[in-house]
Amino acid sequence: MGLIRSTIIKVFIILIIVFPVFISLKTVAETGAEAEPPIIPVLVYHRVISKVTSIYDFTPEQLEEHLKYIRDNGYTPITALQMVESMDNPEQLPSKPVVLTFDDGHKSHYSNVYPLLKKYGYQGTFFVYTDVIAEKSEKQLTWDELREMLQDGMDIQAHTKSHPYLTKISKHETEAAYQKRLTNELQASKLVIEEQLQEEVKLLAYPYGWFNQSIENVAFRAGYRGIFTVNWGTNLPSADCSRLKRRVMENKMTKEEFETILTARPLPIEIIYPEDAGIINKAPEIQFKIPGFATDKVEIKVRSLVAEIARNEDGVFVWSGLQKLTPGYYLIIVKGHDHENRPFINSWGFEYR
Ligand SMILES: [Zn+2]
Repeated sequence: MGLIRSTIIKVFIILIIVFPVFISLKTVAETGAEAEPPIIPVLVYHRVISKVTSIYDFTPEQLEEHLKYIRDNGYTPITALQMVESMDNPEQLPSKPVVLTFDDGHKSHYSNVYPLLKKYGYQGTFFVYTDVIAEKSEKQLTWDELREMLQDGMDIQAHTKSHPYLTKISKHETEAAYQKRLTNELQASKLVIEEQLQEEVKLLAYPYGWFNQSIENVAFRAGYRGIFTVNWGTNLPSADCSRLKRRVMENKMTKEEFETILTARPLPIEIIYPEDAGIINKAPEIQFKIPGFATDKVEIKVRSLVAEIARNEDGVFVWSGLQKLTPGYYLIIVKGHDHENRPFINSWGFEYR
């Protein structure tokens, strides 16, 4: 009798312990999303003007459509600085953050963007290159305008001094002269903004997104704490702050494309070749793994070339669709969907010399 009774008690105790665990596991499984950290999409806009002349120009009405979408779908805009500073404490992040950035210091950022952001109660980040910022200008922002925007909660950060392709070395430039020019591009712009606005500059956005390891080293020596590329994709709070992703917005994007940009999670890519921001002189056979990703087919895009590729028997994705390359910086963009058809995306770049 004693044995049966103690067995019944044991089973009872086990049930008491296991049942709540079972319930809580079920809760996580049912709500799924709770277990996932928030993703941080960073959007890049350029000029916001009435008469658009390039795919990167937005009319004020088109920008407002995006702001309305952001408001109506529960997103909370934060600045790029708030994003970088909350990476160590992701619990500080809103559940659906988004970062609105505006590059190149165009006058329309004061006349059109700033009033629109204020109308919605949003903050934005303005990456400016300092050679074009003056005391008076018809086309570009002035220091007075930037001071006013900063005081009103806008975030002003660096985009170099003269907006060059940082990876390009001039024909007769020595390595030492190039290094000196790089340092000046990254350091002088930071110091000029800090002096003019009396506010520390902690972030850098690479012009055109072109960079390599040695440029990154110079940027860190200049004191930047967060560096933004234009590699496609969204950022997890655990992302590498030296290579944060941003997506350049184009005025022809559909509402569905915009929605995907805001919601696609980072594809967990393990790059095999070519390495991220590497320099190569032969058209590469692209190779990577996506460990733990549920589906076996992804789409790969490099400039205008798009292909669907499948995982091979070694678990590797291989693509040799690049043949003749001209010198420049190339982005490799990989997109996929999980079994629930949710979009995933990731990208990295290489320089072909
Ligand atoms: Zn730019």
